[in-house]
Amino acid sequence: MATVITIDGPSGVGKGTLAQWLAEQAGFHFLDSGAIYRSLAYGVMRDKLALDDINAITALAKQLPVEFKAGAIIYAGVDITSIVRTEEVASVASQVAPIAAVRAALLARQQAFAQAPGLIADGRDMGTVVFPDADLKLFLTASAEIRAERRVKQLKKQGNDANINQIIQDIKARDQRDASRETAPLKPADDAITIDTSDLDINQVCQNALSLLHK
Ligand code: C5P
Repeated sequence: MATVITIDGPSGVGKGTLAQWLAEQAGFHFLDSGAIYRSLAYGVMRDKLALDDINAITALAKQLPVEFKAGAIIYAGVDITSIVRTEEVASVASQVAPIAAVRAALLARQQAFAQAPGLIADGRDMGTVVFPDADLKLFLTASAEIRAERRVKQLKKQGNDANINQIIQDIKARDQRDASRETAPLKPADDAITIDTSDLDINQVCQNALSLLHK
């Protein structure tokens, strides 16, 4: 049986970096569940599906032609690794993610990542819905302002301009959508350990999580 460690929390909290680092340290598989929702969003945009066409979006989710190969996201043969990181795709992802039938259609696909020796699963509902029996559940938090500052730094590094107030607003809007939806709202599992990363750098977060893993 595979060991499963879940890492949930809002966007921009450092989950992805922590999850990938832990997966490398432990020699475990890695599930970026957000990338699955983003790939679905890409498909919805590519096929010009209306955001209220639940049947068409669910049908696509059931047959989503996406593969994860050596860190790349391949959709029907096209490398979409960079395009799924845009705010536009993220926004569509957070609008299709509340659809219960879509989440159900993507459930088995995510659970299939739990293979020996283990899995680090990164998302919003990894500990609450997808892997309720996980061996260790972490929930990362940080204020919207701190997450926005980190995002601005990241964008500047990539040579992009950024308006911090706009980013804070976008983050708050997305948090609100993720937390208030009826299906799998963003919240820690009852048995999750919460790490507030507001005053920690990513190395401290990683060391913190690693010590919990070895407990
Ligand atoms: O984590 P990431 O920002 O890539 O996720 C994109 C969007 O997909 C989130 O805003 C959220 O709405 C949705 N998502 C989800 N459940 C997950 C992962 C992501 O609803 N497990």
